[in-house]
Amino acid sequence: MPIDATKPYDDDNIFAKILREEIPSTKVYEDEWAYAFEDINPQAENHTLVIPKGRYVSWDDFSASASAEEIAGFVRAVGHVAREKGLVEPGYRALANVGPHAGQEVPHLHVHIFGGEPLGPMIWKR
Ligand code: 5GP
Repeated sequence: MPIDATKPYDDDNIFAKILREEIPSTKVYEDEWAYAFEDINPQAENHTLVIPKGRYVSWDDFSASASAEEIAGFVRAVGHVAREKGLVEPGYRALANVGPHAGQEVPHLHVHIFGGEPLGPMIWKR
C-alpha cells in the first residue's frame, strides 16, 4: 500500500526495525551514515536497498532536511555499494520512489540499486 510521504516519520516502519535489528536482513554494507541490505523481493538479478541511518520519510524529506554531512555520507554509500557489487560496468539503476504516484511503500528513505542484467525501459509507458 503506497504511503503518504508528507506524514511525520514513523519509528515503527519496517526499515526502522531493520536498523534496530528487531527484524533480520541480509546486510551488504554499513557505515556511519547508511545501511545496505538485500531486497526481500528482488526485481532484478541484483536488488539492494540503501537507507540512511537518520529518520527520513523519503527522498523529499531527506533532501530538504538532512545535513550536508548526512547527504554526502548517504550518496557516497550508494555509490560504494554499487561499486562493491561490481555493477558500474555494464551499469546499474538507482531509484528512489517518493509518495503514492511512485508507489513508495516503506516510509523510510531507501534507494534501490538494480543491476546484474539489462534493466529494460526507464519507466512504464502507457
Ligand atoms: P518501495 O516500493 O517503498 O520503493 O520499495 C520497498 C521495497 O522494500 C520493496 O522492494 C520491498 O520488496 C522491500 N521490502 C519490504 N519489506 C521488506 C523487508 O522486511 N525486508 C527487506 N529486505 N525488504 C523489504
